[in-house]
Amino acid sequence: TDFWGGIPQGPPDPILGVTDAFKKDTAKNKVNLGVGAYRDEEGKPYILESVLKAEDILHQKKLDKEYLPITGAGDFTTLASELAYGKNSKPLQEGRIAVSQSISGTGALRIATGFLSMFYSGPKVIYLPDPTWGNHVPVAEQVGIKVQRYRYFDKKTIGLDFAGMKEDIENAESGSIILLHACAQNPTGIDPTQDQWKELSEIVKARKHVALFDMAYQGFASGDIIRDAFAVRYFVEQGHQIILCQSFAKNLGLYAERAGTFSIVVSSPDEKERILSQVKRVIRPLYSSPPIHGAQIVATILGSPELYEQWLAEVKKMATRIIDMRERLYDLLVELKTPGEWGHIKSQIGMFSFTGLTPEQVGDLAEHAHVYMTKDGRISMAGLNEHNIQYFAESMSKAVK
Ligand code: PLP
Repeated sequence: TDFWGGIPQGPPDPILGVTDAFKKDTAKNKVNLGVGAYRDEEGKPYILESVLKAEDILHQKKLDKEYLPITGAGDFTTLASELAYGKNSKPLQEGRIAVSQSISGTGALRIATGFLSMFYSGPKVIYLPDPTWGNHVPVAEQVGIKVQRYRYFDKKTIGLDFAGMKEDIENAESGSIILLHACAQNPTGIDPTQDQWKELSEIVKARKHVALFDMAYQGFASGDIIRDAFAVRYFVEQGHQIILCQSFAKNLGLYAERAGTFSIVVSSPDEKERILSQVKRVIRPLYSSPPIHGAQIVATILGSPELYEQWLAEVKKMATRIIDMRERLYDLLVELKTPGEWGHIKSQIGMFSFTGLTPEQVGDLAEHAHVYMTKDGRISMAGLNEHNIQYFAESMSKAVK
């Protein structure tokens, strides 16, 4: 019997499709600005020294590979929460944060939507920024949460449409779930200012919405883990019972290790226990218990003052290289008399820059210059380095002219 013959071809992943096209191109000078992973000055994947040291320590300890509890390794989740919320965070000190290890940031989002779909008594509607990381949509829709959008990007200014954002969040049905990128918004690289976050906190509170923070880039945005945690910590200080999805993929370069956490700020230690008992019911049928190695690496680094300092310096180094590339690209575009205003390249933050290139220009760049990026004109700044930035700026300038 042919059970599966009627299944149609699924759509290609828009980001992985860029990598495929890049791989097929045989030109020597080709440039891939599609991937969301850090690259060093030589365009190579980068393994952090602090991670290598932590792995040496773990290897020497000859730890076993027994199953972790459903909610993961306790030392890891405690240290990870301290990093996100701050050691002095009131709910953390009062034992009011329910936290579970997750399969990196994506898995945290999936626990969040699974938990909300099972237990949230308010409207099962999630508001996502327009545009947002593509995976936010299916992660919500697959568990029956309805997706709505709030305005975020202003095409005219290549900046934040703050008025539109506020209006849409204000007009959302009371109790809606509002997804916020904690820092380094993907794909635009545009974040609200600290004053704007304060206004957003007021609106979310007044409308009794649930704030769901996706924090995939702590430290990676500005090079400073405290500054990048501003929005999360401010909302918590203001009494929001936020949900947080935390990833260690980018800031520790642990992409494939899948280390992350899901957490909720709640009212009491007793409520925390009840919630965790239900979070376990979300996780158990999904993957039973999380992988151990990445969590051990993170816990080893965050738990050792020496490795922690080294890691901070390494995150700063990655962020600084990206910020330098922004400056260089901006200067080159101006030098090449590229029509238009390019200040946004410098003011945007994090791994990505939303260049403002049109789909036609993106197509031209791939065809004529062997330069690859997603159709929306997003480039991964990490893909640029001293060897290819001049070539890229010239190609981009030509495409715009
Ligand atoms: N959220 C955002 C905004 C991201 O950009 C990413 C990765 O690109 C993730 C979440 C999840 O990443 P991971 O599952 O690798 O931690």
